Amino acid sequence: MVHICCSVDSHFFLQKLMKEFPEEKLTAYFYDPNIHPYSEYLLRLMDVRRSCEMLGVKLIEGEYDYEGWLEAVRGLENEPEKGRRCTLCFDRRFEESARKAREIGEKSFTSTLLVSPKKSLEQLRISGEKIGRRYGLSFVAPDYRKASGTQEQNSLAKRDRLYRQDYCGCLYALVRQREEQKRLSDELFSPVSAQIQPESIEYRLQLYEKRAKLEREKVEYQIVKERFLNWRLKYALLRVKGQPVASHVVPYSSMKRGYTRGRVEGESARVYRLNRDEVKFIDLTLYNEILGTKYSCVKELIFSPPLFEDELNLRRSLLPNAYDLSTLIVVDEIPSSKLELIMDSECYEDTIERLLSVNKI
Ligand code: SF4
Repeated sequence: MVHICCSVDSHFFLQKLMKEFPEEKLTAYFYDPNIHPYSEYLLRLMDVRRSCEMLGVKLIEGEYDYEGWLEAVRGLENEPEKGRRCTLCFDRRFEESARKAREIGEKSFTSTLLVSPKKSLEQLRISGEKIGRRYGLSFVAPDYRKASGTQEQNSLAKRDRLYRQDYCGCLYALVRQREEQKRLSDELFSPVSAQIQPESIEYRLQLYEKRAKLEREKVEYQIVKERFLNWRLKYALLRVKGQPVASHVVPYSSMKRGYTRGRVEGESARVYRLNRDEVKFIDLTLYNEILGTKYSCVKELIFSPPLFEDELNLRRSLLPNAYDLSTLIVVDEIPSSKLELIMDSECYEDTIERLLSVNKI
């Protein structure tokens, strides 16, 4: 029984095990309730499934018991990686793997975490052996990192175009890592609209699903990276005469400060301007005309917007300067009274993956 953490580790580790233990029938067990958010869990699982299919290894998916995992590490949120939270995290994943191994009649178990370059081999061995003793199983802990193992692992991941995550998995490690990198934790944004944001985990899920389709159809493809300006809305609230008003913020809206107030003054081609802070308004009728949509009210638009790219086209058609980052807000009716806008968003440099199909094999 091989506990699996991610495809980059499992693809290499399983192949090494197959070489070293050719007589063993391997069963992979994906049990990782530590992974946050759930979309990232699905993405890692999808790629592990692909790898196991390539290698002919049976894969069992464990339960995504995220609440149980959070409860288990309560109080250890601020621990560094390789600290006490990680010990508990390994214990929990190994315990469930050992239980499953016993259930299906296996005598030994191991984990692909053993080849993860950022993990402590010692910490993993102690945890695995302790749990193994409790369940009457042997914990197999080979060191496949040595003798350029990690290099070999990276080459394999590149050759077989595996999904490569860039954080260990849990919410706490992610937040800490992004703070150290001075980067926005954009993995944690989940808009109420469910609109797919550029280079979000949901975007990557779609991309890897399309990749799976190309592979099924035997269409050659490339995954290329591009640098671009990304954007996330943190929050926005429009108040007219002190009352909240339904408003939809068009992507790439940004403000110098988080707050402004004033009156709508000028108008040009049905785009209305606030008398300060480059804020602009359009009504839903114009929005529907430009995008060919049929929203009956802004509230409906908020919860079910069109594609992000469609809204970019809307911005381009209304504000022809390609670098325009003015706030653009859609409302049912252009406010005629004094208004306040509270809004925070972030524009930031990022890298996006794109899938290019090449030709039929
Ligand atoms: S950093 Fe990784 S190993 Fe440590 S608790 Fe978080 S997910 Fe588990």
